Amino acid sequence: MIDIEHIVRKYPWLPSLKLYFQEFREKSPFQFLSEIFSHPRKNLIKKQISFIFYNALEGKEQNLPFYDHSINHLSFFFLKIMLYLIDEIEITNRVANLYSKIEYNKLLNESSSNLYNICKDLSVNLTFYSKNTKNEIIFKQNISDGFTTIFKIYYTDYLKLASNLRDDFRKLTNQQLSKGIVYIQKKNLIRLLQEKARKRILESQSHDSDNIESDKRELFKIQEFKSVYESILEFWNKNKPTYKEQEFNDDYLDLKNSTYFPPCTNVILQRAKKGHNLIHEERLHLTWFLIAVKYDFEDIINIFSSVADFDRKRTEYQVNFAVKKGYSPYACSKLKSLGLCYASQYKDKLCNEGFYSKKEKRNKQIKHPLTYVKIVKYRIERKNIHSK
Ligand code: SF4
Repeated sequence: MIDIEHIVRKYPWLPSLKLYFQEFREKSPFQFLSEIFSHPRKNLIKKQISFIFYNALEGKEQNLPFYDHSINHLSFFFLKIMLYLIDEIEITNRVANLYSKIEYNKLLNESSSNLYNICKDLSVNLTFYSKNTKNEIIFKQNISDGFTTIFKIYYTDYLKLASNLRDDFRKLTNQQLSKGIVYIQKKNLIRLLQEKARKRILESQSHDSDNIESDKRELFKIQEFKSVYESILEFWNKNKPTYKEQEFNDDYLDLKNSTYFPPCTNVILQRAKKGHNLIHEERLHLTWFLIAVKYDFEDIINIFSSVADFDRKRTEYQVNFAVKKGYSPYACSKLKSLGLCYASQYKDKLCNEGFYSKKEKRNKQIKHPLTYVKIVKYRIERKNIHSK
């Protein structure tokens, strides 16, 4: 007998939450939080919330050291209220990333039948091979050499799960696809489910800023809640990464002020700082660009620490590797082919109209983001000399 309530308690981001915990949805946030702070397990709930916030804000990837079925859904509601009130996209992204990683690790230990039920709850039709079925033959017939899995999913369901992901390798064309069926490995399936959890947390970000202040006034009447909220914000203000934006100096490659980066690179940089999902090529370009303009190693790691899928060790290895190899950031032609040139969108004069080359006595197009930086620096220096 499937116990969906048990699964929903464990994974409160599933749609069936509203069926099993309707009573919480009907309560006002004030009523809900008042009950939380008189709940016999309030300390454990506070501990869960604090653990997730503090680790997320420090860019740590700790797994939740304690887990309790009886309060997991309460912590979920609490977390969402907190994010709504804080109303800072960078914090929401960091928390969503960590929360989804915790869920990923939990999901890795799930049985195939539980994964099936989780998918079912998300209206995704997953099939898996089990000794009780005769599916094995079908699975083997369709899988290419060396690829084995017990999970398959109809391609429209795959698209439903992967729709939010921008990475290339999630694309349907990169999957083991045969006759409309995607053969998917457990880890990849779980990665898609992780994204669902992340998305549910991201929904906490407010689109209703007008009401936040009045909601805060109301909820801060619960002193204990106010103090949890204030401690988290105080911690963030002390620990949030500071990105060194430096003044110009003699060497253009020391130019670290992102104000002078071209739109293509600046868009990726700002998206990374805010913790958005970056595709593989965006990560590569940004890493190589920041190395080229001599950002400190730690600053580069800090920038990536908000990004979904951040893994400190892997990022450190990749940045070190890129430094050793001396890769150059993508040229404009490559960025354009990837749809990452924002020259028109940002109406950037230098990118759109090019620059005048005295040597060649003609206007030249920008062909590389580093040339953009070099020209901006040259123009500013010239302006400074003339204004003296
Ligand atoms: S023209 Fe080149 S430097 Fe400018 S935004 Fe496009 S890709 Fe970037």
